Amino acid sequence: MSEPHVLLLGAPGAGKGTQSKRLADAFGIEHVTTGDALRANKDMDISHMETEYDTPRAYMDAGELVPDEVVNEIVKTALSAADGYVLDGYPRNLEQAEYLSDITSLDAVVFLDVSEAELVERLTGRRVCDDCGANYHVEFSPPAEDGVCDDCGGDLIQRDDDTEDTVRERLRVYEENTAPVVEHYRDEGVLVEVDGEGTPDEVFESIREEVEAAT
Ligand code: AMP
Repeated sequence: MSEPHVLLLGAPGAGKGTQSKRLADAFGIEHVTTGDALRANKDMDISHMETEYDTPRAYMDAGELVPDEVVNEIVKTALSAADGYVLDGYPRNLEQAEYLSDITSLDAVVFLDVSEAELVERLTGRRVCDDCGANYHVEFSPPAEDGVCDDCGGDLIQRDDDTEDTVRERLRVYEENTAPVVEHYRDEGVLVEVDGEGTPDEVFESIREEVEAAT
């Protein structure tokens, strides 16, 4: 049997990144994330695409969506190189969902359900290692030494878009553009919901069971 094709949906801060990494390790599949791909290419010149801004950075720092043309291409390239995958951060609107259905088929669509108050608390307290990308939280999972990564000793930074104002804007953009994507998969009858407010281990177990049941 081919490797599972998993889509993990949820608002910013729902835990998609953390859980996707674990799923990728557990099932031996690729972690395909448009957020990381865009962060690694923030200053890419996209002016030839007749977009409003000339780089992904301008959209990301404002908490807005990067144009579909840019992210669709990233996803197409990444999926064509993967057998199994867990997709994280895409699709973010119905047009992207339609594009995705043209280029691949999904085995499991899992929605991580987390309340808005919890999302804001998680995102504004998040700190990320500048070197290895490990995630921390100033209150819920602080590093042993302030500002220093436990794993690699790198500097812990706050993502440019994790400040309170940008977090609010990202959640607004999520409600407007991405919540309809969740409804779309619910209407198709393929969505499974997982309570995203347990411990990372509990949430992972629930997701793993759903993926195993679907594949
Ligand atoms: P994330 O790390 O998934 O929260 O993504 C960070 C930022 O990257 C978002 O706020 C958007 O500006 C951009 N981004 C990530 N994925 C997408 C996508 N599928 N469509 C458009 N913009 C995206």
